[in-house]
Amino acid sequence: MSAIESLRVRLWRRYAELGGDLAEIGADLREPLDADFAEQANELEEQVALEALESRKRQEMADIRAALARIADGSYGICTNCGGAIAEARLKALPTAITCIACASGRLA
Ligand SMILES: [Zn+2]
Repeated sequence: MSAIESLRVRLWRRYAELGGDLAEIGADLREPLDADFAEQANELEEQVALEALESRKRQEMADIRAALARIADGSYGICTNCGGAIAEARLKALPTAITCIACASGRLA
């Protein structure tokens, strides 16, 4: 399996995992509030935290879809900022990376 192919598999696995997480979070968020007022306050706080988590996961899914689209069109692994190659080690650490490490750290910005 090529490096990109194995990253593609990882991206799909992560995407499926995130989809499962979102389904669970959605089910938690749809649970009716407790009748007890003090308990309701706790639950509302939890909901705020869950909603934040949900939006991070949705963002990650969008990043993964974008990465898969770049793999499909052949632009995967090319820095969107400087057009240089993104190091394989960086892609392995962060498969959704769209910039090379130099651009990400702002050295060439
Ligand atoms: Zn770059």
